[in-house]
Amino acid sequence: MNSTATNIRNLRQQIPNSVRIVAVSKSKPVSAIMEAYNEGQRLFGENRVQELLQKKDQLPADIEWHLIGHLQTNKVRQLVPFVSMIQSVDSRRLLRVINAEASKITRIVNCLIQIYIADEKTKYGFTMEEAVEMLGSEEFRSMQSVRICGVMGMATFTDDTEQIRREFRFLADCYKQIKSRFFADDHSFRDISMGMSGDYKIAIGEGSTMVRIGSLIFGSRNR
Ligand SMILES: *Cc1c(COP(=O)(O)O)cnc(C)c1O
Repeated sequence: MNSTATNIRNLRQQIPNSVRIVAVSKSKPVSAIMEAYNEGQRLFGENRVQELLQKKDQLPADIEWHLIGHLQTNKVRQLVPFVSMIQSVDSRRLLRVINAEASKITRIVNCLIQIYIADEKTKYGFTMEEAVEMLGSEEFRSMQSVRICGVMGMATFTDDTEQIRREFRFLADCYKQIKSRFFADDHSFRDISMGMSGDYKIAIGEGSTMVRIGSLIFGSRNR
């Protein structure tokens, strides 16, 4: 197996410079993250708050941490002081809590709206209709401490590449509709986070601006 450093170098050669790589380091040790860091990687994704808190204190402060997994509202307070982006905003209640906690410490937290695009009950997210309803609401307009930077989605876990392509195309279409309806003049709304180790090429073909890559960088894992 290649080293983490080699994996990152190889991956960068396959991905246009305009697409950011989130190195998904869940379940991987601090030493592996440092190896990626020493290769110039600064953007990392984790899906568990407790694990993220433990790791971040042992790592350089200029790392940008993105939360990419389902987030329970009772964990939000620990996250908002330092997180660069919460990609997995999957309910109105969660966004409300993020806004409230961020407001207490006068911070603005970058968020992506997670849209449910898969054919799997295990995945989280808003339907397009729910997202539109929330973004059009009075309550959302009053939220001063969250900045919506785009959308995120996870395709179905399948070998059917045409299905994956359709799901990513749907997410890109949701992005365009939400952009024109709610964020036409807002330059912060610009990200489509889609694509993982197995499907990032399809995602980039469909307009991804951010891919979340774990096993291709760090090797396989148990979860
Ligand atoms: C684990 C995970 C990834 C990375 O998965 P790989 O297949 O290892 O690249 C991406 N996004 C989310 C939300 C994840 O939980």
